[in-house]
Amino acid sequence: MWRRCEDAEEMGQALTGTRSLASSTVTLATTIAGSLPKPSWLASRDQLWAGWALDGDELAEAKRDAVRVAVAEQERAGLDIVSDGEQTRQHFVTTFIEGLEGVDAVNRATVRIRQRYDASVPRVVGQVTRKDGVFVDDARFLRSITDHRIKTQVPGPMTMVDTLQDDHYGDRETLAMVFAGILNEEAKEMEAAGVDLIQFDEPAFNVFLEDVPGWGIEALERAVEGVTATTAVHICYGYGVKANIDWKRGLGPEWRQYERTFPVLAASSIDQVSLEIAGSRVPLEVLDLLGDKSVQAGVIDVATDVVESAEDVAATIEAVTAHMPLDRIFPSTNCGMVPLSRQVARAKMAALAAGAALLA
Ligand code: ZN
Repeated sequence: MWRRCEDAEEMGQALTGTRSLASSTVTLATTIAGSLPKPSWLASRDQLWAGWALDGDELAEAKRDAVRVAVAEQERAGLDIVSDGEQTRQHFVTTFIEGLEGVDAVNRATVRIRQRYDASVPRVVGQVTRKDGVFVDDARFLRSITDHRIKTQVPGPMTMVDTLQDDHYGDRETLAMVFAGILNEEAKEMEAAGVDLIQFDEPAFNVFLEDVPGWGIEALERAVEGVTATTAVHICYGYGVKANIDWKRGLGPEWRQYERTFPVLAASSIDQVSLEIAGSRVPLEVLDLLGDKSVQAGVIDVATDVVESAEDVAATIEAVTAHMPLDRIFPSTNCGMVPLSRQVARAKMAALAAGAALLA
């Protein structure tokens, strides 16, 4: 199902190895979890979920220009599967929710999300429906500007219900299933637009562990029903912001949250799991719980400005190979890179590609 990448050999030095790019036997195709920092001409860089620097037609044009830059930088770094770097989104969850009917994005509420920090979120005020594609046009645009395989990200249903104020449904599970149906429509339209890999961002799966085997996985299954593109779920320990760093400090010497969710995912229809490894305290034997799933292995730590060497990246990938064959490993970043500087993000992408190339 992967799109052949004819011009890959012309891309950066990291692609001069012997990897075959022609089929699903491709080994070590690299990608990023999703977001990249935005240029200062698009959004202010002084806060994580900063407002846009432009509006109207100028903003629309600037977003597309930023996507062009994000794609060029991923290709230049030597990455194989590229995304739009989420340049059109203010927030990876709320921007999607705000694209739906039945949502008040103006009279917002402040709620505690992921049991960790307060965020300004939209309110659900009526029956939620999807009138048009939310990120489908973005996916079409991405498809039109690169010959590489492409991925898109959407929030997962559990993470969505944890990133809003519900003034209508009164029940997380019910609302999650509504979102799941909407995500399924979105995913099918993305697939029709030529997206190779559709990723559901579910950091909430690392927090509400008791609900994952029940309505958490049911909602995710509903979201991928009938989708033939490769599907992935991204479960991480968050960006390198203070609330997350404090939370991780309290998780003990070994982070075993994946131990609870991976057996559930192994039995699911999801093709791939994106997980955090580099710089984390995740014991790698949890990978043994994933059955025949493939992984986007987080070999780049997004919680530090220190740039990994190619050897660091290769060593992390090698550690993963003790639990999984190379052809099921897609080296990636732990999470989105939106909080980093553009310079650091570029260097980390280059390290990712160069490290994977050492094992090609
Ligand atoms: Zn993440």
